[in-house]
Amino acid sequence: MHRWPFRADAVSATPEPHRIDLLVALVTTECQLRCRYCSMRAGDVPREDLSEDTFALALKNLPIAPGAQLQIAGGEPGLVPERVFAIARHARRGGFARIGVQTNAVDLDDRFLAFVREEKIGVGVSLDGPADVNDFWRGRTDDVLANLKRLNDAGIPFGVTTVLTRGSLASLPRLAMLLATFPQARSIGLDLLRPVGRGDSVDLPTGAKVTKAYRDLSATLAWINRRRERPLVLREDGMIDCAAADTYCPAEAGRAVVLSPSGALFPCSSLVGRPEHACGSAADPDLAALRRGLRSPKNGCATCSVAGCRGRCPSRALASPKAAALDCVLRRAAQDIK
Ligand code: SF4
Ligand code: SF4
Repeated sequence: MHRWPFRADAVSATPEPHRIDLLVALVTTECQLRCRYCSMRAGDVPREDLSEDTFALALKNLPIAPGAQLQIAGGEPGLVPERVFAIARHARRGGFARIGVQTNAVDLDDRFLAFVREEKIGVGVSLDGPADVNDFWRGRTDDVLANLKRLNDAGIPFGVTTVLTRGSLASLPRLAMLLATFPQARSIGLDLLRPVGRGDSVDLPTGAKVTKAYRDLSATLAWINRRRERPLVLREDGMIDCAAADTYCPAEAGRAVVLSPSGALFPCSSLVGRPEHACGSAADPDLAALRRGLRSPKNGCATCSVAGCRGRCPSRALASPKAAALDCVLRRAAQDIK
């Protein structure tokens, strides 16, 4: 079966206008943590914060699609709450339909919690496991768990993203059990280590261990969800059986842009600061480069039995073909347990 067909009917005399569906705003390079795999090397680079003026310039010069999504990330957005508030409000006025913030949840003040609740901002928290694991890879787990409780008690739904390393794999079921204690925890996403930034010398897990970890996590979630009003969803389950599985992500489709605090633009957060992937600036975007998008490897896809696969992460593939191959391990594991 050919999963990535060339469609003659997709080529029309009047090509579709270029639109950006996902804007990622990196609001600061500063962070309280020094995670061992941080792609931005946050804390090791000079501090720079994104100004509302630079954000406004990006909105003026980029072809943002109606109803696009804004993801606010960093560094740690919780360190610059006023900028987060200003940028989120600006984005709302600019027509963004969905706004999310990705936080390490180490320091979230009451105003921050009130803002995300009142403005209906989606919250993603980075957490790699229980304290014995997360303290090694990230740090300050007690503070994170205290803030998950505060989010939960305030009725704010949140998802958790876990970076898969050799060290975090085995603890995924324990992480799921921990999250099960928070009714507002809605999802777990698995982010296979990208060997870039501070993570460029971190060892990747083996395929066999990734498969086992996925099975163990799925079994634990099935047990949890039989006892839970709202399921705790494993986001990777949605990476197969996609109705229109033509691209892995908006960056592959040329419909994503990352705005760094300096105003420089890139197609993906993992590629920020790499000159060969620069796409101009908020003042002068290189729209042709953005539109080209990233190419994800398709080797093996034509004969693969995984149905409706979203494919491999193109920027993970740029960092390491071995890491990209683990994307396929996750898809196959998801198919096997269906
Ligand atoms: S990965 Fe996130 S939380 Fe960790 S150091 Fe980098 S910016 Fe901070
Ligand atoms: S699992 Fe890998 S080889 Fe199979 S379709 Fe998905 S990306 Fe292609």
